[in-house]
Amino acid sequence: MRNEMMQIQRLQVIGELAASVSHEVRNPLTVSRGFLQLLLERHKDNEQDARYLRLTLEEMDRAQHIITDYLAYAKPEAEMVSRLQVADELAYVISVLEPYALLGKVEIKVSGVGEGFVLGDKHKFRQCLINLLKNGIEAMPGGGTLEVKAVCDSKKARICIIDSGAGMSTEEVERLGTPYYTTKTKGTGLGTMVAFSVAKAMNGRIEVSSTKGKGTKFIITLPTC
Ligand code: ADP
Ligand code: MG
Repeated sequence: MRNEMMQIQRLQVIGELAASVSHEVRNPLTVSRGFLQLLLERHKDNEQDARYLRLTLEEMDRAQHIITDYLAYAKPEAEMVSRLQVADELAYVISVLEPYALLGKVEIKVSGVGEGFVLGDKHKFRQCLINLLKNGIEAMPGGGTLEVKAVCDSKKARICIIDSGAGMSTEEVERLGTPYYTTKTKGTGLGTMVAFSVAKAMNGRIEVSSTKGKGTKFIITLPTC
């Protein structure tokens, strides 16, 4: 119990820190990247210089990737809890991810979304959904269908995110949510950690069932209001 409290507190601190860091770092990063791009134009003929500059740009993109994917929706302001319509939030995050899904030849199929409200910070809830949907898309490198099923009743909202991708072994499932655990070359290993901590903050939970080579199902359960 004490351990769990400490874990929650730690996640909160990480979350707050991450939010302010992302806010402060994004602008200077964008500006620096712009100037580097200009420099590259001017040094195109110098093979060595151009190589260094390209590597620098790639690394900056990596940093930006972390911010955009995982911290964009965490705003540095104090948490704003409000009633959120599950259907609206799902529609929003799916519209955000549509181009990414299209690029990966993944169709996002939504079903069962009725009326239902949950209590939470809008940006954080969106971040949670985005991180899990994004993983689903990334788990199917050859394309496929990502199913999103939502069912709400007077007590609970259940959102299932189902892919037919790579799947995970029991050991891999157990490692989910550990900061920086990633199996992707360009992964950050922050996505599931953020998603789990958001669900916890909303008094909910996330369950995972997965079969290696078959696919994965994430179930987010949250109290309705
Ligand atoms: P990242 O996506 O940057 O690697 P995450 O925390 O989002 O970080 O995920 C951690 C790891 O968990 C992934 O690298 C992947 O190995 C595994 N994983 C997460 N979601 C899925 C999924 N839907 N299918 C298969 N593996 C997954
Ligand atoms: Mg991820």
